[in-house]
Amino acid sequence: MGMRRARRRRGRRKGRPLFVVTLRSVLGVLAASLLISIIVSKGVIPVTAVGPLKGYAIFIDPGHGGIDPGACGITYTEKDIVLKVALLLGARFEQSGAKVVYTRTGDCDLESSDVSDVEARIGLMKESKATIALSIHCNAFTDSYETGAQVFYNATKHPGSKKLAQLIQDELVRSTGTEREISARLDHFILNHAEIPAVTVELGFLSNPGEENLLGSAKYQQELASCIYEAVLAFLASE
Ligand SMILES: [Zn+2]
Repeated sequence: MGMRRARRRRGRRKGRPLFVVTLRSVLGVLAASLLISIIVSKGVIPVTAVGPLKGYAIFIDPGHGGIDPGACGITYTEKDIVLKVALLLGARFEQSGAKVVYTRTGDCDLESSDVSDVEARIGLMKESKATIALSIHCNAFTDSYETGAQVFYNATKHPGSKKLAQLIQDELVRSTGTEREISARLDHFILNHAEIPAVTVELGFLSNPGEENLLGSAKYQQELASCIYEAVLAFLASE
């Protein structure tokens, strides 16, 4: 029935000069695009709303903070470096339309009179209803020879965690030249309590002076954030 009606409508238009319709359509398109550009330039429609990650929520936990510096190098502390990378990464996600839930965006811990720092971070992860969880840390070891970024996951939790870890590790290998491989040998509270794909990214070793300098550089922090971003994009596109 719908088709017959459509055909009849088209039939009625037969007698009209073609250029009127064409001119009207062109003017319509011009007016619409002008309206859209005005709305976008005024910021009424956030540009982020149309990105590839629209509809996703991503949980980012920069480790440590406040009274807990984490690992310490000669110049830099883990809490500062992981926060910088986390914020760069979160900004990329937000530009792509995702909602980002951070455990912290400043130099603070999450301990209160009610809950411990760890409990607060786990609570935020559960409340976030996020699609994936990313915990960001730096490594340190007694032997300063150890270097390289490495991604950890919990093999007994969500099956997507290993795949996400591998995608991030692949990007890190390609971009930073780390020779490390993904590992399930990390007892970490975020990994242990996540019901969603979750990984801990150890960005590198602050106990290695060369790598510490790299980790402290804005360019390398951006590179690390890009690696994680690209891998997450690939992971979510494949889900
Ligand atoms: Zn740490």
